[in-house]
Amino acid sequence: MTEEKTVTKMAIRAAYDGLGEVMGQNARKIIFKAAGLIRVIDSPPEPNFDREFTLSEQVSIYRETITLVGAVGAQGILRQMGYKNVEFGVVTYHALDSIKDLPPGEKIVKCFEFSQAVLNKGRVVIGDDGLPRFDVFDCLTCEGAKSEKPYCAQYAGGLQFMADWTYGKGVMQVVEEKCKAMGDDSCLFVLRKR
Ligand SMILES: [Zn+2]
Repeated sequence: MTEEKTVTKMAIRAAYDGLGEVMGQNARKIIFKAAGLIRVIDSPPEPNFDREFTLSEQVSIYRETITLVGAVGAQGILRQMGYKNVEFGVVTYHALDSIKDLPPGEKIVKCFEFSQAVLNKGRVVIGDDGLPRFDVFDCLTCEGAKSEKPYCAQYAGGLQFMADWTYGKGVMQVVEEKCKAMGDDSCLFVLRKR
């Protein structure tokens, strides 16, 4: 059976732009080629919400980044990529203009829910502190991976942009509290006051 296309052109375009900015065009070319996305290199997808890519293709972008950089150094880069991806989506492509003026408590929940919807993974839960947490119990990046440090840092980066956009920079930090690659049952991202 062929895999269903559940990932939006917006998500792949933001990854394309983000990767280019963080790693440069040559590295982006290598990564997209290795990820089987050679068709994207010269004609990046329009940033709209048509679903034309598979989850496997999206995950491959992060997997191939880890392969290229090496597992030890990749987390900082993945975090930056995640941050830039979401920044492109929100600032350049106006994906969340409809919620930009909501009060912070509501806005951050909508942001996390948007992440869940775009990624088609995980779920949003509200913690005892009243803040949303992103629980990626079905993380594909970490499937079969082993690490001593949190591994799927692209999520932390993306959510960090959301936190900065909601509260202002330097107010909240996104922490990956649990990670399946470290042997936990889920990859769990929480907000902490700095
Ligand atoms: Zn993970």
